[in-house]
Amino acid sequence: MKILIAEDEDVSRLLLRKTLVNWGYDVIVTENGMEALEVLESEDPPKIAILDWIMPEMDGIEVCKRIRTTRKEPYVFIILLTAKGQTDDVIKGMDSGADDYIIKPFHNHELEARLRAGKRIVELLDQLKIQATHDPLTGIWNRGAIFDALEKELNRTTREKRPMGIMLIDIDHFKRINDTYGHPAGDMVLCEVVKKMKTAVRPYDLIGRYGGEEFLIILPGCDKPTVVKTAERLCDLICGEKINISNGSICITISIGVSAAGDDHDNINKEQLLKIADKALYEAKESGRNRVKVCMTLCDE
Ligand code: GH3
Ligand code: MG
Ligand code: MG
Ligand code: MG
Repeated sequence: MKILIAEDEDVSRLLLRKTLVNWGYDVIVTENGMEALEVLESEDPPKIAILDWIMPEMDGIEVCKRIRTTRKEPYVFIILLTAKGQTDDVIKGMDSGADDYIIKPFHNHELEARLRAGKRIVELLDQLKIQATHDPLTGIWNRGAIFDALEKELNRTTREKRPMGIMLIDIDHFKRINDTYGHPAGDMVLCEVVKKMKTAVRPYDLIGRYGGEEFLIILPGCDKPTVVKTAERLCDLICGEKINISNGSICITISIGVSAAGDDHDNINKEQLLKIADKALYEAKESGRNRVKVCMTLCDE
């Protein structure tokens, strides 16, 4: 696990670094608060930080305050490690946003135990984050997370002047599967369809459960013809091979609505992109199911 230390005093810094490396941490060393803040605000920051209070440029208290206002995700577990040992100091330190407080000089065993506690919290937060963003049945992104990803990817591809496509996928006559074979069989079908979707797209395409038997796939960098080709391949893959359920195997089909933002994007937003894909999906259903339909703009309405 990565850990940040911020300590201006050379000997203390070297000792602390050596101790943490011996305990198996991947240590990032900074010499003042400004450097520490920079690391904590970077893309993939350490989730545990040990900060000295008194440092040049910016003190540990200020680092705590800033990080609590600017960075919500991921949460950084902060330990203040300082010679300031009065009760008022501890209160001030914790109120600035620190999670724990250790007074110098300290015992290594105490630091080790407090780091274990920090690690427990960080790991718990990671688990909660996964639960909050993933569908428990299929393990893919849930509705909220795939919506967030859509916004993020649309912003990114617009900035990079690249196209982006989406597919809205709906399993055909899924209610019949539940009615005929039971709900657990329906669940198995959902999981099998997801497995097949994963093989049909690139590792960095994003797959989410949009609703009960509806899925959204985001394909960054793909223009309309590419998304259509991928969608048709997926349709063929699903209907071309029976899906195993506990008491046999069954044929299923899917319908797909496709929409894409060109490299100029024409100021399209995520709601419009979804609305177009939804309209195309409706057309795919209306024209007989087991097929891909595409609309380019809302003007087709
Ligand atoms: P269409 O071809 O028009 O899409 O018909 P359909 O039967 O697939 O669509 P409909 O909306 O009538 O039925 C969707 C069904 O999906 C109803 C709902 O009970 C079922 N469903 C939703 N979520 C789950 C789930 O997690 N597990 C199972 N087994 N069924 C689910
Ligand atoms: Mg100091
Ligand atoms: Mg549906
Ligand atoms: Mg359906």
